[in-house]
Amino acid sequence: MTRKFTGDQILVATHNAGKLQEMTELFAPFGVTVKGAAEMNLGEPEETENTFIGNARIKARAAVAATGLPALADDSGIEVEALDNAPGVYTADWSETPNGRDFVMAMTKTHRLLEEANAPHPRRARFCATLVLVWPDGHEEVFEGRVNGTLVWPIRGDVGHGYDPMFQPDGHEQTFGEMSADAKNAISHRADAFAKLISACFD
Ligand code: IMP
Repeated sequence: MTRKFTGDQILVATHNAGKLQEMTELFAPFGVTVKGAAEMNLGEPEETENTFIGNARIKARAAVAATGLPALADDSGIEVEALDNAPGVYTADWSETPNGRDFVMAMTKTHRLLEEANAPHPRRARFCATLVLVWPDGHEEVFEGRVNGTLVWPIRGDVGHGYDPMFQPDGHEQTFGEMSADAKNAISHRADAFAKLISACFD
């Protein structure tokens, strides 16, 4: 049985101010106040698992252990079919440089690997997002969202972040990098996972 959320506070295990704002608005209609990782002085645990669920679980459990509050964490990335689903959980890692993250470099690497593999067109990919909600007694609920599409080259658009300019969702002419935030949020992997969370635990 899926457990309903009956508390009035939830810890969202992220240091990302944008994600926190999004969640604050999402949970407000249910009378749930959102606490962020920064205001609770939480560290960032190492993401040592090789699945989205595993890494989201590490973050949520660490947040529960540190605060005693129920905690929600997410993990996300892009899976490229012809690359055996790489970069997957290592999406952010592929962009790391000594001077911070560089996603043009990561997308260029992805394109180069596809070319070297002679990958056929269309080059199928999917964005995945996994949410793990953990209660203080250890109970957890997991929700997975995804959006399927193809990778384009050259990249198009400068809206959004990460791999957005390389990803054209199925049924659309624009890449995520060309779409408005509202248009992307209507179909994104994260929106899919959140809709499942809300209908299972909050509605
Ligand atoms: P994390 O879930 O914050 O660890 O992010 C994983 C990485 O996946 C991000 O750094 C992005 O590069 C990529 N990613 C996840 N969701 C999106 C998206 O909606 N657009 C573009 N890139 C994304």
